Amino acid sequence: MSSNSLRTLDALIQADLVPGDPELVAVAQRFAVGLTAHVVAQLRQEGGAGPLARQYLPTVAELAIQPQERADPIGDAAHAPVSGLVHRYPDRVLLKAVHVCPVYCRFCFRREQVGPEGEMLDRPALDAALAYIAENPGIREVILSGGDPLVMSPGRLAPMVHAIGTLSHVDLLRVHTRVPVVDPSRITAELIAALKSGPTPWLVLHVNHPSELLGAERAIGDLVDAGIPMLSQSVLLAGVNDSVSALEELFRALLKLRIKPYYLHQGDQAQGTGHFRVPIERGQELMQSLRGRVSGMALPTYMLDIPGGFGKVPVGPVYAKREGESWVVQDPQGQDHPVPG
Ligand SMILES: *Cc1c(COP(=O)(O)O)cnc(C)c1O
Ligand code: SF4
Repeated sequence: MSSNSLRTLDALIQADLVPGDPELVAVAQRFAVGLTAHVVAQLRQEGGAGPLARQYLPTVAELAIQPQERADPIGDAAHAPVSGLVHRYPDRVLLKAVHVCPVYCRFCFRREQVGPEGEMLDRPALDAALAYIAENPGIREVILSGGDPLVMSPGRLAPMVHAIGTLSHVDLLRVHTRVPVVDPSRITAELIAALKSGPTPWLVLHVNHPSELLGAERAIGDLVDAGIPMLSQSVLLAGVNDSVSALEELFRALLKLRIKPYYLHQGDQAQGTGHFRVPIERGQELMQSLRGRVSGMALPTYMLDIPGGFGKVPVGPVYAKREGESWVVQDPQGQDHPVPG
């Protein structure tokens, strides 16, 4: 972790980023807090309140746990054949190699699992996960997730990527990370070489607001120049990006940096995240407003991870309905047209 990162509530209070409110102690005991020096500088620029502060600074609102919220909102535990591995779809597995993140997002869907304790899967657990993948030739893609796998040094990452690369049925290595936007200096030639030492790498960047991309241009450019294709995933968050203008600006900025917007996630029912929730109707309305207004390449799929481990499905606006013998299809301006078929 880079120097000058803030890893405790006291450090955040001392840096004048959060008030010395005793209730925040309970929040920090329950959910990890942490910021990189890069994000601290961005927060200072933002001036204390805004889309970045809302994503990263703990608030007492997190103590309001709603009855439908869950400790394991997307049901990872229902599909964990061995520790650290989630095998929910036949052709791909999620390998949670680390439980640590460079920043702790206040809306995190795995907030009960991530944190500074439990650095990394230990050697026997990692070997068991790799053995499981080796024994299941239907697995074509390994998704490194966590935590954030790019908190690992190139020296720790390379052997893991190389070991995955020795499994001949694995075609793809997908890395889910926030590092290029929250700690861009970690994207070095050594890290890129480590990413390329196994199956074909794809990198999926977690980014929610266009201002997060400021300062990340060099890191992203180096990854894409190295031949690593990039996608993005964003979470729809109240007070962060639940407007047409924020999403439009985000998706346009991503395309300009050669990142294809992949998923816009409906927020999961993680505990203490009610203040971030956006109704699905509103998400559909936002997606519909963007359709036709921005390049089709700019539009991600609006996805919901069904609580309980049943998988992710699109929940975006529906444009075509059957009516008797034909279809009624809505154009991007909202007008209906009968279409045979
Ligand atoms: C989200 C997720 C994936 C990846 O799903 P895609 O739709 O391929 O992006 C894979 N495994 C698990 C367990 C997941 O939660
Ligand atoms: S980086 Fe991802 S896993 Fe880590 S706290 Fe943020 S949302 Fe959660």
